[in-house]
Amino acid sequence: MPIYSWPLRVYKVSSDLLRLPNVRESPFYVGLGNGRIRCTLCHRQCALSNGQAGLCRMRLNIDGKLYTTTYGLLTAAESRPMEIKPLYHYYPRTSALTISTWGCNFPCAWCQNWHLSKFASIDGVYVPPEKLIEWAIENGDSGINISFNEPTLLTEYAIDVFKLARARGLHASINTNGYLTPQAIKAYSTQEWTG
Ligand code: SF4
Repeated sequence: MPIYSWPLRVYKVSSDLLRLPNVRESPFYVGLGNGRIRCTLCHRQCALSNGQAGLCRMRLNIDGKLYTTTYGLLTAAESRPMEIKPLYHYYPRTSALTISTWGCNFPCAWCQNWHLSKFASIDGVYVPPEKLIEWAIENGDSGINISFNEPTLLTEYAIDVFKLARARGLHASINTNGYLTPQAIKAYSTQEWTG
């Protein structure tokens, strides 16, 4: 029995939304017919009608396609010590450029980062992957880490960022609830959008 549940939201989508750089079609969905789709990014597997957003509220069905609204839309970016991350002896005495966006795929009532995880917004700073890597190098960070809200919501962006990070000798990690589907995990490991 969930403590509480979010109703699936229905949005009126304007054409302006699709012009935002952070709004991108996601490869993580399948069609269900009659314009309905199923998001396959996490195990919620939300089935969405046109204009409807998933439980995370940051992915929605627009005319039969799944769009993420959080590609590169950052709500925080900060160099943080590796020692405060849930990783054992991973690049000790260095820092990672740590980023987040909005939303979460879990509705926990006790979230310490509720100001990020419980809100659906298109406010934030759009940072292209190349720019983020430059920031990390300028800061002297050893890598990139996604945290604060649930990194699942940044998956497409993370894959693009991590590919660039590896090419520039930076490590990459996510602090996640692990509720990704095998398809999404495979996309992280191969750094390819397999669709
Ligand atoms: S990522 Fe969001 S829309 Fe997709 S299945 Fe999970 S909760 Fe639903």
